[in-house]
Amino acid sequence: MKLKFWGAAQTVTGSMHLLELDNGKKILLDCGLYQGGEGFATEYNTTFPCEPPEIDVLILSHAHIDHCGNIPQLVREGFRGDIYSTHATFDLASLLLMDSARIQERTAEYDNRWRRRKGLDEVVPLYTEADVPAAMDLFQTISYNRTRQILPGVELLFLDAGHMLGSASVNLTIKEGDRTLRIGFTGDVGRPDSLILRNPVPMPPCDYLISESTYGGKDHEFIPDAENALLEVIRETCVENRGKLIIPAFSVGRTQNLVYTMDKLENQGKLPPIPVFLDSPLAVNATQVFEMHPECYDEDLRMYLKEDPNPFGWNRMHYIRDVEASKALNSRQGPCVIISASGMMTAGRILHHLANSIENPKNTILVVGYCANGTLGEKIVNGAKTVKIHGEEYHVNARIKKLNAYSGHAGQTELFNFISNQDKKTVQRIFLVHGEVDRAHMFADFLAGKGYDQVTIPSRGETFVI
Ligand SMILES: [Zn+2]
Repeated sequence: MKLKFWGAAQTVTGSMHLLELDNGKKILLDCGLYQGGEGFATEYNTTFPCEPPEIDVLILSHAHIDHCGNIPQLVREGFRGDIYSTHATFDLASLLLMDSARIQERTAEYDNRWRRRKGLDEVVPLYTEADVPAAMDLFQTISYNRTRQILPGVELLFLDAGHMLGSASVNLTIKEGDRTLRIGFTGDVGRPDSLILRNPVPMPPCDYLISESTYGGKDHEFIPDAENALLEVIRETCVENRGKLIIPAFSVGRTQNLVYTMDKLENQGKLPPIPVFLDSPLAVNATQVFEMHPECYDEDLRMYLKEDPNPFGWNRMHYIRDVEASKALNSRQGPCVIISASGMMTAGRILHHLANSIENPKNTILVVGYCANGTLGEKIVNGAKTVKIHGEEYHVNARIKKLNAYSGHAGQTELFNFISNQDKKTVQRIFLVHGEVDRAHMFADFLAGKGYDQVTIPSRGETFVI
């Protein structure tokens, strides 16, 4: 059979790989969107490793847009096979694809405004909201730890990857003639001891492994007590300074970790009596999906549910979808916590809250996630004195704090532990994907140091006969 690498090859975005069996059947692993403003992004996002109608099955590791965001277009271009995912991935993908479709439409609309002015051809969105339901119709969901035959001679097993709600590693057993091959795809790997999710289940031994390498060469800083660190920031800002605490957070994952942490503090009687607002329709919807999938919770949260059936809510916790209610927060006086998206502060309602709060030294902006180069979040974290929001210049007088305790990605050592069941004698090759080139090389060197010398860092379009 053949394995062709297409997306997330020597980069961290646009996850997509194609397996072609000797009988001609084609299995696509992930169908992610290439996220990035570079000129080639459109070309990357409009080409697939083969014609979409030729693909028989798509297997989705998890619902992040860089793994599932190109599915509506794949379907629009003629893919009609089954899409396999876990149940929670289906629910989150449904939400996130609708959100992505709206972003595609808005971006095209914005681009067309200046394109028309310059007399240039108009662009069409990659896909629209109308394309999403047809894509969701193709899903077949499977629980973790259940083996399913997805094609003659091909069995699929999802194991919990602990990276986001519903995330899975993909384990395929493929019988071809008189040989049986085990092929593993890590998807993205989470961290042990995360707040809501179970620990990643280590990858069983494979003949060929496709592994992510996001944090090659890097381990996470150990944060001994994130719960109290968060409490401290809330106390300083809202009790001592009587200010607002603004927390930009990704809608899925980080936000629920924050809310659950505050829920615990509330139950312990430690949370100051201040209102907490979750102002992001996507985050509000995503939190509902979390509530619907207790099968994904770790043991601690299952125990917690016995005492508190709602780990994401208490009487001063307010969920805001409505635009008017969101605007009303701007003129609200008095201390409060506002959690809003986007996490890197590139778009969304968080921009209004920042504009409204950043010049007041009583307030704090708490950055809880990674902010990519060039984003407003990165400028704020790196101590910019002034920033532009919605075209206006603002002085950064609010205090800026960082608490990077909720990363969804395994550090290098954690990632190695996840794949260390691989038998050095029987694993034929380990392909490293989903990492910047230098990170992937660092992880390859690390693996070599552990005795794995059969490591390859494939490039886009590269095909291997396995
Ligand atoms: Zn991911």
